[in-house]
Amino acid sequence: MNDATSPAAVPEVLPLVVVGAGPVGLVAALAARHHDLPVVVVEAEPEDRIRPGSRATFIFRESLDLLEQIAPGVTEPLIQQSRSWLDLRTTYAGREVYYRRFPAAKPGRFGISLSQKDQEVVLLDRCRREGVEFRWGNGLTDLATDTEGVTLTLADGSLVRASYVLAADGARSTVRKALGITMDGGRSESSFIIVDVRDVPDNPMSLTRTFHYRHPAVGGRNVLVVPFGGGWRFDLECNPGDNVEAFSSEPGLSQWITAVAGPGYADGQMWSSTYRFNHSVASAFTDANSRVLLAGEAAHLFPPFGGGRGLNSGIPDAIFEIEAIADALAAGDTAKSAEIIDAIATERRDAGFANRDAAAAALVHMEGRGLWNRTKQRMAALIAPHYERAGRWLDRAPMGPTAPVSQRSRF
Ligand SMILES: Cc1cc2nc3c(=O)[nH]c(=O)nc-3n(C[C@H](O)[C@H](O)[C@H](O)COP(=O)(O)OP(=O)(O)OC[C@H]3O[C@@H](n4cnc5c(N)ncnc54)[C@H](O)[C@@H]3O)c2cc1C
Repeated sequence: MNDATSPAAVPEVLPLVVVGAGPVGLVAALAARHHDLPVVVVEAEPEDRIRPGSRATFIFRESLDLLEQIAPGVTEPLIQQSRSWLDLRTTYAGREVYYRRFPAAKPGRFGISLSQKDQEVVLLDRCRREGVEFRWGNGLTDLATDTEGVTLTLADGSLVRASYVLAADGARSTVRKALGITMDGGRSESSFIIVDVRDVPDNPMSLTRTFHYRHPAVGGRNVLVVPFGGGWRFDLECNPGDNVEAFSSEPGLSQWITAVAGPGYADGQMWSSTYRFNHSVASAFTDANSRVLLAGEAAHLFPPFGGGRGLNSGIPDAIFEIEAIADALAAGDTAKSAEIIDAIATERRDAGFANRDAAAAALVHMEGRGLWNRTKQRMAALIAPHYERAGRWLDRAPMGPTAPVSQRSRF
């Protein structure tokens, strides 16, 4: 119990709080301003933090279109800094099995490739210009809901009262845990080593997204090579039983980068990390009082393979959930408001399930476990020179099937 005379006993009252200033929280804040809602973003880390790695590099055209709807012009600086590739290439055991060049198109026509930290700089700058209020370095430690709203406890002990909360506090979401919401799903068997490297002007690679099945220079392991604004990203899939440390630390790390990309690239390492990827979705996207909505990695975890569904589903979560919160605030009737929130929570959770299943299918394909999977891939590689669809299948399968739901729920 708080002492009635302490400052914490008199909570500040706000219509909307966004928890977390990652890309999903920033998009949610922009969406709130689009609906003329005052919004406070509560962030655990300090304002001058350094964000790691390229992470969610690929932003689909559909996501860019959504961003334009809530913040016209915001995609221009994103597109300017990004790279768009027109070539797709797949190899199997060192032999090309698929190649496709798309006709020249306007930058961003099919999406953009840009480091997540550079995306966040653009989004944060726009948030500031739209009058979003930030509380840096004062994370949420606890939260409780009732039929009228939400009480948030921050790290400095202060209390905030909000009509609605959008939780964008990432994979380890404190909000999700405070509400007792669990995650359902699985995890990749393999470990993946992800490395960002700089361009090498003396030894440039062509702007191609390349997927290597069973790369012979890396002991038959799969490698994905993706260009993004300012560099290249390599994702190496380790085999079960591998000594992951040998590939993720020197000299092994530089050796496989050089084997894949050629001289110079290993010298320009900017970030590397080792992951096993989850594909899981929150059991509920709202609380029992329909006052909190989960978005982004607070709500779902997908591997970057399987179609870049992480941030590309976080953006519609944020935009459609804020739209629902604006409608609920305007409804002026508790039961009606709860109905609106429950409806969007169900819609985004269903999208999450579709994305989870597609990402899981992509992981099964990538990991190539089991005789049937391996045989299918080998046979497709064998017939690819004579049958284009087999090569296209090898190229597309690591993206996972397109989720069989409407475009609004698709990502
Ligand atoms: C190696 C890797 C590669 C990836 N590749 C892709 C890709 O190719 N395509 C793709 O779409 N996605 C990819 N992702 C996923 C992508 O990074 C996430 O989808 C994205 O970061 C989710 O954004 P978010 O805002 O939900 O969470 P985060 O970026 O994690 O942001 C959460 C924010 O909340 C803050 N926070 C945490 N706890 C609290 C608290 N208690 N109170 C206040 N603030 C708090 C954090 O400090 C952080 O700022 C990748 C992820 C990884 C790790």
